[in-house]
Amino acid sequence: MISIQNVNKWYGSFQVLTDCSTEVKKGEVIVVCGPSGSGKSTLIKCVNGLEPFQKGTILIGDTSVGDPKTDLPKLRSKVGMVFQNFELFPHLSITDNLCLAQQRVLGRSTDEAMEKGLKLLDRVGLKAHANKYPGQLSGGQQQRVAIARALAMDPIAMLFDEPTSALDPEMVNEVLDVMVELAQEGMTMMCVTHEMGFARKVATRVIFMDQGHIVEDASKDEFFNQTRSERAQLFLSKIL
Ligand code: ADP
Ligand code: MG
Repeated sequence: MISIQNVNKWYGSFQVLTDCSTEVKKGEVIVVCGPSGSGKSTLIKCVNGLEPFQKGTILIGDTSVGDPKTDLPKLRSKVGMVFQNFELFPHLSITDNLCLAQQRVLGRSTDEAMEKGLKLLDRVGLKAHANKYPGQLSGGQQQRVAIARALAMDPIAMLFDEPTSALDPEMVNEVLDVMVELAQEGMTMMCVTHEMGFARKVATRVIFMDQGHIVEDASKDEFFNQTRSERAQLFLSKIL
């Protein structure tokens, strides 16, 4: 589903990603962790074509992300992305947030987009808030709307970049619960998160990054039971 082959990226003369390679199969849930500044967000953004990279290949299905001929907006609609800070449109109601891209990018009618949006809003437990604005919702609720909005595009995979790290602690679980459900339904997911409870519950593999390198790429059991690199061990000892 997602193939990352020898990806290298520089910001000016600073190499942020070095020879990153991994494969994500359909239905796999990959947790990406590692210290701040290790390149996790950059890697995720490269997968979605939000950041260019200078060397290597990323394929989503048969589509090459780095190919200048690739229609990036269309590709992004197929690979949902959820950010740390929700990124809802503050001036649009929750329903309009849910419908906008469905109509603009997928050409759905208002009715169609609305039906889909409300169904997903219900699924994340927020149907009663359809006519509110993002600012009237808690962080956890906004993040659930952001997930519903991404799902409204019928994505083939979902990318998450620390979706719970900007939330107050009591709201973390309501977002993780939605992600766990998605994972259990078979959604292909790449999740940058330090929520190791989530990783233990649903991850198929855990990737550990450090200084732009993928240092570990192991099954969940291998990762938690026999992390090989010292850096990954040190990291785990700090967050667990
Ligand atoms: P992580 O998500 O693991 O914390 P990032 O991918 O955000 O790491 O950043 C990796 C490194 O790249 C950091 O050293 C960061 O300062 C640098 N970086 C991130 N974005 C930019 C940018 N737009 N320009 C220059 N350097 C950047
Ligand atoms: Mg980051």
